[in-house]
Amino acid sequence: MDLMCNVSTCRKSLTGALWVTRCSHAFCEEHARTLAHKQNVKCPACSTVLGKRFDVIRQNSNPAEDFRAMVLVGLRPEIVLDMAMRATSFWNYQVELELKFQSHSVKRSKEAVEKLKVNHASMLRQLANAKKTSDSMYINICVMGCGKHAFFLDYFSSNARS
Ligand SMILES: [Zn+2]
Ligand SMILES: [Zn+2]
Repeated sequence: MDLMCNVSTCRKSLTGALWVTRCSHAFCEEHARTLAHKQNVKCPACSTVLGKRFDVIRQNSNPAEDFRAMVLVGLRPEIVLDMAMRATSFWNYQVELELKFQSHSVKRSKEAVEKLKVNHASMLRQLANAKKTSDSMYINICVMGCGKHAFFLDYFSSNARS
């Protein structure tokens, strides 16, 4: 899974560079532009004030091998684990957000389908009523005798056409 930009109208897949915030949100380059190099800006997702150094950082989602090999080297194991734990809980929170978003859009789709079903049913009822009306007209015409029958059919079909 890739992280997605947390701006709901964007949701760009964050495959290269991404920006992450202390309040556990992730943004694409475009939506992080407002965050970079500024004091006391608000997170676009949750409005947390981000002012301190390291409140917003730019990450590479796929860091180079030499960076991976060295970045944690020399740190005590408990610090390495602490960093890994924080990074993992950030990731878990993002997965949680994505699941919420997905279940919300499934709910919206289901509601749209239900609405269509209701519209369809009412359309079928209208058609059935229209058919009943035209059938009863036909029966009325038929019992009147052949001359009028032809006259009515002409009248009805020319009305239907207009
Ligand atoms: Zn974005
Ligand atoms: Zn935030």
